[in-house]
Amino acid sequence: MTKKIIIIGSGFSSISAATYLADKGYDVTILEKNDSYGGRARKFKAEGFTFDMGPSWYWMPDVFEKYFNDFNKRVEDYYSLKKLDPAYRVYFGENDFIDIGDSLEKISQTFEENEKGSSKQLMKFMAEAKKNYSIAMEKVVYKPGESILELITLGTIRRLRYFTTNIKSEVAKYFKNNKLKQILEFPALFLGAKPENTPAFYNIMNHADFGLGTWFPEKGGMHRVVESMIELALEKGVKFKSNHQVDQILVENKKVTGVISNENTFLCDIIISGADYNHTEKLIPGHLKNYSDSYWDKKTFAPSSLLFYIGLNKKIEKLNHHNLFFDGDFSNHASEIYDNPKWPESPLFYLNFPSLTDKSMAPEGHENCFILIPIAPDLKDEEKIRDEYLQIVLKRIEEVSGEKISDHIIYKKSFCVKDFINDYNSYKGNAYGLANTLFQTSIFKPKIKSKKINGLYFTGQLTVPGPGVPPSLISGKIVSSIVTKDFPNQ
Ligand SMILES: Cc1cc2nc3c(=O)[nH]c(=O)nc-3n(C[C@H](O)[C@H](O)[C@H](O)COP(=O)(O)OP(=O)(O)OC[C@H]3O[C@@H](n4cnc5c(N)ncnc54)[C@H](O)[C@@H]3O)c2cc1C
Repeated sequence: MTKKIIIIGSGFSSISAATYLADKGYDVTILEKNDSYGGRARKFKAEGFTFDMGPSWYWMPDVFEKYFNDFNKRVEDYYSLKKLDPAYRVYFGENDFIDIGDSLEKISQTFEENEKGSSKQLMKFMAEAKKNYSIAMEKVVYKPGESILELITLGTIRRLRYFTTNIKSEVAKYFKNNKLKQILEFPALFLGAKPENTPAFYNIMNHADFGLGTWFPEKGGMHRVVESMIELALEKGVKFKSNHQVDQILVENKKVTGVISNENTFLCDIIISGADYNHTEKLIPGHLKNYSDSYWDKKTFAPSSLLFYIGLNKKIEKLNHHNLFFDGDFSNHASEIYDNPKWPESPLFYLNFPSLTDKSMAPEGHENCFILIPIAPDLKDEEKIRDEYLQIVLKRIEEVSGEKISDHIIYKKSFCVKDFINDYNSYKGNAYGLANTLFQTSIFKPKIKSKKINGLYFTGQLTVPGPGVPPSLISGKIVSSIVTKDFPNQ
């Protein structure tokens, strides 16, 4: 008998798991609470503008390629990629910025201009980052996080020091210039923790950044990837049902038997949840949870975010596709996220204009714009506060870059803590899961398999390997191989 699998949610990890399992002959149905698919990577259209709602940085193209290769396909069968040059711009003050080019050679020249001797240092730093990246990809990130033995390989033992030091001090060993140091600490922010709390081994992200480059999926941006994965999943026979919120996971004799959604009851042999872990555990009887409320309360979550999706009736000339505003105090803002959670006094933020690369994302002569301000999860979220912060960042953008924005806004929508909770059932409104601190890495992550319920599994950014789109694809692959072993489809 073909085994029936229900997958909760339609984020990257869920679609990935579904596709691997349907490919192995399982009967797979995805139930998504929202009216569109992709989870945090949904898109929406308004007044001629197309907005990616979440991810915008396409890093680690090798992981996407590997995903499609697993089904004898290639990325180019579905979408084409453009390497961005400059990859991104970092502002440190008024007309004071550094552009990061699309090759290590160009970047090392930029480094040399800012700190004498730093180009050689960069090459040394990057050679180490590249070695760590290979070890991570070949030996670590595709492992299920079940046993410490997974981490003990010749490669990791030889590089043990990278697990006992942090990114901040590692970068400081090589460079003195504060701007360069901040640029090299920036990729760690994708992992959701402060650079001083992120193991130096995660300099793999520096290889992802400078070594592999920043790409853009043409004709649609990041959501193009979601659409492509759905196309492949449908080819494999996965069934998708939107507007299906799972309200209860049915368990009999400590074994899953199905789910109750707002629409129907679905019977099944196996359930995989790509929804936020804490929320999924609310759908089962309390005594069968893997983790208590206090467990979650003690965890370091990745930040939440205040987001703005903006349509402009002008073309942008003085800014890039990706722009980071590091013209404030990095450590103050980090402390307002992690140590003393409050609305930041002078936030660092990220500004993106995808229509500079993809004209189809805005009407002619217009530009679409996305602003992200990282904030602590669980902050008081009110319309008035959102508006205040929009004014703060618009003023900063205009002062620092000289580009006029405020008078050209013809469409505006914000998204913050309350929306993360309402739309995704996100714990405390976190944007991208658990931070990858040392004690929240690999075997220390919430487990993929329920310890108490047979047939219940978890996937996504709260499990191994962690936050981000590439890790979510990998997480789907990991859970699918565990399910295949536990429930062979005879
Ligand atoms: C603003 C933002 C910017 C980001 N930028 C980047 C970036 O540039 N690059 C990058 O690599 N990563 C980025 N990330 C992280 C990346 O988007 C996520 O790590 C990834 O998309 C998470 O995928 P997932 O499969 O874990 O889950 P999600 O995308 O969270 O999907 C979970 C799904 O479950 C659904 N769900 C929840 N409860 C239920 C229920 N009861 N019943 C049915 N369905 C339910 C939700 O609606 C959702 O669709 C960003 C994230 C955010 C929020």
